[in-house]
Amino acid sequence: MESNGRSLVEKSLIARGISRRDFFKYCALVAGTLALPTSYGLRVAEALEKKSERLPVIWLELQDCAGCSESFTRAAKPSAADVVLDLISLNYHETLMATAGTQAEKLREDTIKVGGYLVIVEGAIPSSEGDIYCTIGGKTAEQILHDTVKNAVAVVSVGSCSSFGGLPKTYPNPTGAKRVMDLVKDKPILNLPGCPVNAVNITATLVHFLTFGKLPAIDDKLHRPLFAYGSLIHNNCPRRGHFNRGKFVREWGDEGHKKGWCLYKMGCKGPVTFSNCPLVKWNDSVSWPIGSGHGCIGCTEPDFWDHPLYLPVKIQEVSPPAFYPAVGVETEKPIDATSVAVTGAIAGAILGAVGAAAVTKNRHSKDGNGQSSGES
Ligand code: SF4
Repeated sequence: MESNGRSLVEKSLIARGISRRDFFKYCALVAGTLALPTSYGLRVAEALEKKSERLPVIWLELQDCAGCSESFTRAAKPSAADVVLDLISLNYHETLMATAGTQAEKLREDTIKVGGYLVIVEGAIPSSEGDIYCTIGGKTAEQILHDTVKNAVAVVSVGSCSSFGGLPKTYPNPTGAKRVMDLVKDKPILNLPGCPVNAVNITATLVHFLTFGKLPAIDDKLHRPLFAYGSLIHNNCPRRGHFNRGKFVREWGDEGHKKGWCLYKMGCKGPVTFSNCPLVKWNDSVSWPIGSGHGCIGCTEPDFWDHPLYLPVKIQEVSPPAFYPAVGVETEKPIDATSVAVTGAIAGAILGAVGAAAVTKNRHSKDGNGQSSGES
């Protein structure tokens, strides 16, 4: 509680003109985004309401375009999601902070001294020619990164540049751009790739951290949280029915495009891209690239800029199969040669019987029609 008896959440709700009901609805929604059971909505709300201190955050912008910062601050109108932002103390963010120069750098250093903060990194880290391609306040990006993470509780890379190198790392990678994971080895790291990152996934990650005191579960190799990157876009795409029926857009503006058919042949990378875009969408869930008629460019996958956007990705089956295998029962018993022979003999006998029955039936049928009874 703060000095006036109101919690941080209460103060935020009043200041933003948001009802408690909307706040609870948001908590249930974010629990769903985090793939938690619906009952966790209440638990999330209670945990956030108990917060009496803001979580200190240092946001670094290195080799970036500030697109992820823009995505993060996208709110068009006050929403319950913004309450989460009132639970963090954004102590350092080059683009958003009011101070500049030595004063700004002092704020970063003071936060590092106290410790217990979260570091958010936007942008890749150059390494060519003595790291000269990105320096701030006389320090290289790599020095700043190492200095900043030393007392942090965890590091979150937002966007594809800090997660995987992004656009700066595109061939031939003239600045020697690296990802955070290449340089930071002794802290928990979570990657939220995307070009830009989806703000929904940043706030959901923050809510998880504020509620449970740790980062959400990630995959081992790419460190992406499973709640946001656990499923292929292709598996949740509303155009998937058209893909399965072989109905593809073949030219921008053609009949199939107007009818909302599958964009695979126009280069859609949905079949190889892991992201929750179809579920959370963009711009307050108004739409998303495939929803507005453009194929997915695969921006949550490593090195996506190196793959021509117009070329279809290689997948095993583009056209739907003519026949689907019958549903069968798996057996744990190993198949041996004897059982194969016996099965073959039984199958042969059954086929023979079926064949004989068919001939007999055919013959009977012909007989029944009063035709000459030649065998078929
Ligand atoms: S190829 Fe793209 S547009 Fe087609 S179903 Fe898959 S994700 Fe959707």
